[in-house]
Amino acid sequence: MQYTVNERGYYGKFGGAYIPEMLYPNVEELESNYLKIINSQDFQHEFQQLLRDYVGRPTPLYFATRLSEKYKTNVYLKREDLNHTGAHKINNTIGQILVAKRLGKQRIIAETGAGQHGVATATVCALMGLQCIVYMGKIDIERQKPNVERMKMLGAEVRPALSGSQTLKDATNEAIRDWINNPNNTHYIIGSVVGPHPYPDMVARFQAVISEEIKQQLLFKIGRDYPDYVLACVGGGSNAAGAFYHFLDNPNVKLIGLEAGGKGINSGHSAATTVLGKIGILHGSKSLLMQTEDGQVVEPYSISAGLDYPGIGPIHAHLFDTQRAEFHPITDEEAMQAGLLCSRLEGIIPAIETAHAIAYLEKLHAKSNETVVINLSGRGDKDLQTYIKWFGEK
Ligand SMILES: *Cc1c(COP(=O)(O)O)cnc(C)c1O
Repeated sequence: MQYTVNERGYYGKFGGAYIPEMLYPNVEELESNYLKIINSQDFQHEFQQLLRDYVGRPTPLYFATRLSEKYKTNVYLKREDLNHTGAHKINNTIGQILVAKRLGKQRIIAETGAGQHGVATATVCALMGLQCIVYMGKIDIERQKPNVERMKMLGAEVRPALSGSQTLKDATNEAIRDWINNPNNTHYIIGSVVGPHPYPDMVARFQAVISEEIKQQLLFKIGRDYPDYVLACVGGGSNAAGAFYHFLDNPNVKLIGLEAGGKGINSGHSAATTVLGKIGILHGSKSLLMQTEDGQVVEPYSISAGLDYPGIGPIHAHLFDTQRAEFHPITDEEAMQAGLLCSRLEGIIPAIETAHAIAYLEKLHAKSNETVVINLSGRGDKDLQTYIKWFGEK
């Protein structure tokens, strides 16, 4: 079984590039060049150097003593929260800006919901001196003020999407429109393993540094270069794809993705795509997607903005379909409790997205001689108000 992408951009029956004809030139230019660029010595040299000196890699693989005691197993946290800008997203934006430069692009566009991907994009544009335009729903701009201010401080222009529900999907539509109108000088940086081929594969390759480091670090710490379990939260699925990547072909490693169960999978307020989703096309690729009987995308819900997405990257749809990975929903309540627990037991305040992965320790029942790696995708500073409000009300 092949778990990585094939030449046509498919993971099993998922993936591909379902795009309007006017985008063909842009996507084709990227598709025919990305592997050549990424595999070149010159690219790898610059990418590795920036990951080390600018992002702060390798991130530690930390043995979480008190979480391990509590759950009677061996829990390691892969500290992506210690990256510059506080999450794994920068691994991808660094990679894509280097590709954009090599394609001769001077202008970068992106879409953002909670603003995390917008900040990571604005950061690398400042680093490279490229123009940056971030599309964001008008409602999200109001909800995510600190991130909007960060992007502006970094020199990016934040353009409000005024159509539809004025949230992420409308921002995505605006970004696509922009790209159609500026095919020559503009690169569109997508923030997760979603979108038309080659984006899911390109983003997964940039995030794969996570599992590459886990292998080396585990070999050093436990004398074996793989764990029994890898746990990661899944919005679009980029941090999970990176944490799974180098273990995909090792059947000894159980891969577990944790989705946003929101207020419960039957509540009408969740983003549990593998439970509720059906096959469909969203943002240029075929995957699992939460939709109504007649194919309208269902408005997703999660307390964590980063998991609030109605689809899932095609790689994960395939891993689910072939049962290579398991996916489970975690409710808001379970995630918030896990966020508090990790703060109190380890002195690490995780992003609420990440807390979904930590919450699964309650249900995993790993053995005392087993090794569990949790990808700590980001830090929770951005979520403090949400945590405080949640626990203040209880
Ligand atoms: C954006 C984000 C996520 C979700 O995105 P993926 O592409 O699924 O990884 C998870 N954790 C954090 C901290 C994020 O910022």
